[in-house]
Amino acid sequence: MIEPQAKEMTGVELLTTIAATRKFVAAARQQGKSIGLVPTMGYLHEGHLTLARTAREQDDVVMMSIFVNPTQFGPGEDLERYPRDLERDRKLAAGAGVDAIFAPAVAEMYPPGYATYVQVEGLTEVLCGASRPGHFRGVATVVSKLLNIVQPDRAYFGLKDYQQAVVIKRLVRDLNFPVDIITVPTVREPDGLAMSSRNKYLAPDQRRSALALYRALNLGAELIRSGERRAAVVREAMAGEILARPGTRIDYVAVNDAETLAPLEEIKGRVLLALAVWVGNTRLIDNLTLEVKDDVAHHDEKQAAPGNCHRG
Ligand code: AMP
Repeated sequence: MIEPQAKEMTGVELLTTIAATRKFVAAARQQGKSIGLVPTMGYLHEGHLTLARTAREQDDVVMMSIFVNPTQFGPGEDLERYPRDLERDRKLAAGAGVDAIFAPAVAEMYPPGYATYVQVEGLTEVLCGASRPGHFRGVATVVSKLLNIVQPDRAYFGLKDYQQAVVIKRLVRDLNFPVDIITVPTVREPDGLAMSSRNKYLAPDQRRSALALYRALNLGAELIRSGERRAAVVREAMAGEILARPGTRIDYVAVNDAETLAPLEEIKGRVLLALAVWVGNTRLIDNLTLEVKDDVAHHDEKQAAPGNCHRG
């Protein structure tokens, strides 16, 4: 239901049902407006807000979904403790130019008897897909539902979740969703830590250890730039950098093809350096892409530099 008082306070329409969202979208369409969708799980930070600002530049109406999607969490993962604060999110979203938030209850998205899931094959069997079975099935399912509910012209995703962006581009291509997928570089804290809602879990000493991810990615990129072409050597060096920090445990350290996501032996072409690391009970991911062309490594310009929180 649309809550008009909420809109007066923050300038953001709060939609909690699919019917109200379809109505809102139909009204915008009738006025010939283009629609951008920014799907999130909420507890917004500068990464999410950068997606929203990017949408603001390109679309007439900016919609953000806030939904902690249970189907993308495995048993024993952090579904229950995932941070939630809709009031705070509404204010932040308003500041970034969001027009409407779609924040459905779980039963609105998955009513009793729900039985349909979307599976993207191949790309989801490596990296996070290998350590979180079923995760990308949940992501592909909820994104398909959101694209059907909102029917945006463009949908915005962060490269912080690089594999997710690749999976969604494939999903949209394979199932013919009439939407452009726009990717946005990773937004980082001034010291390089990739922004994440899960950073909230980190105690001060863990926050220091978490810097290992960004350091390891840079070390890997430096090695490649200085001519190392053996993926195993780069992986080893990155792992060493991570394990030098107290309280860290490696889920994966990957040097993979940035298009197919397949592990590399010899480094060439567009390369993805990707990490998943446990810091205490918190699993953090980060990545960096670079291009090795004519045997020279180029930093991928699409990746933002640390501290580069605001665009333009
Ligand atoms: P989440 O709420 O974590 O599911 O993220 C929602 C969207 O924001 C996804 O497209 C993420 O890739 C994106 N995102 C999350 N963190 C960042 C970040 N630090 N920089 C850029 N995009 C991000």
